[in-house]
Parts: sequence; structure tokens; C-alpha cells
Amino acid sequence: MTGRIMVVGLGPGHEGHITPLVSEAVARATDVIGYIPYVERIAPRQALTLHPTDNRVEAERAQHALELAEKGRQVLIVSSGDPGVFAMASALFEVFERDSARWQDIAIEILPGITAMLAAASRAGAPLGHDFCVINLSNNLKPWAIIEKRVRCAIEADLAMAFYNPRSKSRPAEFEKTLTLLKTHCQDDRPILFARAVSTADEVIRVVPLSQTTPDMADMKTVVIVGSSQTRVVLQGDKQWVYTPRSYPFDNSH
Ligand code: SAH
Repeated sequence: MTGRIMVVGLGPGHEGHITPLVSEAVARATDVIGYIPYVERIAPRQALTLHPTDNRVEAERAQHALELAEKGRQVLIVSSGDPGVFAMASALFEVFERDSARWQDIAIEILPGITAMLAAASRAGAPLGHDFCVINLSNNLKPWAIIEKRVRCAIEADLAMAFYNPRSKSRPAEFEKTLTLLKTHCQDDRPILFARAVSTADEVIRVVPLSQTTPDMADMKTVVIVGSSQTRVVLQGDKQWVYTPRSYPFDNSH
């Protein structure tokens, strides 16, 4: 049987966010590779070998998957959310490219999932309803100068922004500096969404005006969505909906 690698997204947490195509790939797999908490989401069964690994060993995981597929195994690589968003799909191709001649006969499928920002946005309303950008605030794989430049350009372009990996214990400074940049250049009442553990039992959704945000509102389980200048809050009883209108004010007269 042709060896195969299926890189799948398990969505942000709730089973209902797993697509039928991903469930079908899980059923076809002989091996599951991924970060421990994601592999734990796959029900064990006979003839399915689970290979959970610790964080930050993406290249080793990809190499392992390619070697298993080379032997004819049907290998599932699991990511949370979408596998192409700051996750295993790129890690796989990075390793593939180093020795691409060796892996030509392996079938590769990338199956999308619901990424954290989309699940978060839907819980709050429609903050990403107009143009937006997505920035990973972790400086593990890129320098702070690049992150800062991208945030500055996004502010300048008046995009809504989604921040992944906003803040970890070992890396508290980037988010604090990002908030300072936003507070310096954007209006005080700009809505900021802190969505933690979206679509799990621990979910917390908070909408805070920019001037009242503090760095400790985000951690590694949080995705942060910053509105554009047009993003607004509408009330429905106690619920604060956040949305960005589809149109941007412009002068069409000439
Ligand atoms: N591939 C994943 C992202 C991996 S990077 C996806 O598409 O969602 C990890 C970051 O994703 C976390 O630091 C956090 O910012 C965000 N994230 C992942 N799952 C989340 C969830 N359930 N709720 C909120 N943020 C989440």
C-alpha cells in the first residue's frame, strides 16, 4: 500500500468542530503523530499506534512521519485548529524539502480545520468581517523587530488583527510591548477580544476597550483579536457583540 501522510486540524476543541473529512482520515490511519494533548484527542483502537511527543519537536515529528510513510504506513499528523496555521503542515514541508527526492512516492494530504481565530471571532460576533491580518507574537522563530514592524504596518493599514501565541511565562515582554504600541497609535475605546480556550469547557471570552487592557489578560491559551478603527460593540441584553462592518468609509465622488 502506498505510504501516506495526512496532516489534519482537529479544530479548537469541541468535537463538533472536527470536519467529516478529518474524521474519515482518522479512521484510515495506522499511526498518529503529534503533540501529547492533541494525540490524546484521538480515541485509541486496535491496529492504531499513537506516537505522542512533547512540544517543540516539530522537525523530528515530520521526519518520523515521513519514515513511517516510506514503509507504507498511513500516518496522521495532528494539529489543533488548522494544520497550516502556525502548525505541522509547514514543518512537514520544511523536512520534506531537505531530502525531497527520497519522499516522491509518499501521498500527502493536508486537511483543514477551524483555526482558533475563527472560532473566537464567531463567539464574539464578527470582528473579522472586513480586512484583517494574523500575526504570531512568538519570537521563537523570528526576531521582535519583524513582529514590531508587522504590528506597526497593520496599525498603519487600519487592519483588524488576530494574535496567536500572544504571551507565555518565558516570553511576557512581546505582548506588553505590542499593547503599548497599540495604545500609542489607536483610539482608547477600540474593542479588544481576549478569547481563551475557545470551544472547550474552560472557554472565557472577554471584550475590553484598548485603554483598559493589561498584559496578563492573555496567555498561551488565548487568541487576541484587535479591532480596526471601524470595529464596534453592540449590546443585546448583557451580551456585547463585537463586529466590523463590511464597508469602509470612503469618498466615491471622483
Ligand atoms: N494551528 C492552531 C494554532 C497553533 S499556535 C490553530 O489553527 O488554531 C497556538 C496558539 O493558537 C495559542 O497560543 C493560541 O493563541 C491559539 N489557540 C489555539 N487553540 C486555541 C483555543 N481553543 N482558544 C484560543 N486560542 C487558541
